[in-house]
Amino acid sequence: MESAAELIARGAALLRNGGVVAFPTETVYGLGANALDPVALARVYEIKGRPRTSPLIVHVSSIAMARAMTAVWPEQAETLAREFWPGPLTLVLPKSAVVPMDLTAGLETVGIRMPAHPVALSLIEQAGVPVAAPSANRFMALSPTSADQVRQGLGAAVDLILEGGVPEVGIESTVLSLVEGTPLLLRPGMISRADIEECIGLVRVAEGSGEGAHPSPGMHERHYAPRTPLYLVGTGGELPRTGRGVFLYSTDSGEAENGVAMPGDAQSYARLLYGTLHRLDGEGWDWIGVERPSGEAEWAGILDRLQRASIR
Ligand code: AMP
Ligand code: MG
Repeated sequence: MESAAELIARGAALLRNGGVVAFPTETVYGLGANALDPVALARVYEIKGRPRTSPLIVHVSSIAMARAMTAVWPEQAETLAREFWPGPLTLVLPKSAVVPMDLTAGLETVGIRMPAHPVALSLIEQAGVPVAAPSANRFMALSPTSADQVRQGLGAAVDLILEGGVPEVGIESTVLSLVEGTPLLLRPGMISRADIEECIGLVRVAEGSGEGAHPSPGMHERHYAPRTPLYLVGTGGELPRTGRGVFLYSTDSGEAENGVAMPGDAQSYARLLYGTLHRLDGEGWDWIGVERPSGEAEWAGILDRLQRASIR
């Protein structure tokens, strides 16, 4: 059997030669390919069934690698990278000429982050190329938080799947655009708007980014979803009256027959969320109810994912 180090070395060689390698990060497991190789990128879109209009995030192992992919590297990028990298913050910046449009879905900008996982960092460093990696699941499905889930979802389509335990953060990165004017939050995550503002001052929030309330339920794009219908509801009530369901709660189990207690703090909740949904998806429930988390800032990323996963 190959050792962990040998597997990473094989993964790095595969990436250099146009292969597709699934690997652990601190957010979710990624499906990686050389970001500078349009043929390898096409395979990632194909395996995921992802529309070509959705750009991929590039993963780097150093700030120098990030800078090489950008046309401008503003002061704010340097400050944020020093504060939060390696970590779950993606910065969107004007792209440099080396970055293929196949990666950015035709945009003149590129999303970049440095993952805080030893396997990911070592894989990218040894590959010596920036690594494009969306979550390692079919388009619209739940993001994987274990190598087994990647195997179940994508299996033989991937050249190699690296193991790396349960991700520390558990949901996808915060995405922040530094392309023009005031920084713009495109997707909330476990690094909150307040965390970023503490570091660089005022941040705007993109319409529909999920931070705070959506104008009305059901308007959000369905994404990050289990196969079982998911209902995001106020404490206890409003659950479906028919079928056998299960209720995820962190403060009040309400009247639910089958309750699953979730942690009361956002960090622990995020770490468990996708794994729990994966498990329940396999248990044959008619529906999954989820107690709506509080509107506090540190829950913004979790609330966003739950809203996108829910049918109401
Ligand atoms: P994921 O679905 O986790 O692979 O993350 C992709 C997300 O990153 C997209 O939904 C965008 O929000 C964001 N993203 C990546 N690249 C860009 C870009 N060039 N401009 C704007 N957003 C981007
Ligand atoms: Mg995804």
